[in-house]
Amino acid sequence: MMLEGKVAVITGAGSGIGRATVLKFVREGARVVAAELDERRGEEVVREARESGGEAVFVRTDVSDFEQVEAAVERAVEEYGTLDVMFNNAGIGHYAPLLEHDPEHYDRVVRVNQYGVYHGILAAGRKMVALENPGVIINTASVYAFLASPGVIGYHASKGAVKMMTQAAALELAPHGIRVVAVAPGGVDTPIIQGYKEMGLGERLARGQMRRRLQTPEQIAGAVALLATDEADAINGSVVMTDDGYAEF
Ligand code: NAD
Repeated sequence: MMLEGKVAVITGAGSGIGRATVLKFVREGARVVAAELDERRGEEVVREARESGGEAVFVRTDVSDFEQVEAAVERAVEEYGTLDVMFNNAGIGHYAPLLEHDPEHYDRVVRVNQYGVYHGILAAGRKMVALENPGVIINTASVYAFLASPGVIGYHASKGAVKMMTQAAALELAPHGIRVVAVAPGGVDTPIIQGYKEMGLGERLARGQMRRRLQTPEQIAGAVALLATDEADAINGSVVMTDDGYAEF
């Protein structure tokens, strides 16, 4: 098992990529704190994880609130004794053409996607520096940190920030032996892309992948698990493109 003995906090754990990562991690021997805003989804994934023989607990967490993220990190140490992996994955989308934008929506996307990752880096970094074995912080960026698309300007801003925070945090935490990396998925078949589909852009998103189909959450979870292993020790400060070679066709 590739993650035997590891302890992880996974945010946005109740759906899509987060959910697939919880289930992958427990299958690979990790113990997981499933940090999720939606109570029903959070409890459901923990139930599934336990039914598969894994160890997991749910902590209701709004990543836009630093104290709640700190509490989820604290819970990992209380429950399982350490923190090896922090997966800052929770995110939301808001789809509207720029000129129809409501600034409040921009604000919410940035609060969750950008501040949420910042909170996770800060809470996990502070905890990990005091632990015997330094861990790894993995953030979910997006191919949209690199390529522009219509209707998601706030999302672009937040994911561009995740890309640079990954590099900046890796630099500052390196003296403590902590790695910070990110994954950048392309189009993944999860509820977050529903708004995209409603704008008639679903097809375009699927075409963007070189294999011309949306990715699965399990594909991204597999890459996250690889990055969480000690075998990935040379990978630091990088945004790893987990996007099936996404390009605009
Ligand atoms: P999803 O909607 O299936 O899952 C997101 C989860 O985050 C949900 O369970 C939701 O309840 C939770 N969440 C929302 N706000 C939260 C908050 N404030 N605090 C804690 N949890 C919260 O979407 P997904 O596709 O699995 O998205 C996961 C991450 O992957 C996001 O950061 C997203 O931006 C990123 N991503 C997704 C795609 C894609 O095409 N699906 C592509 C690139 C990047």
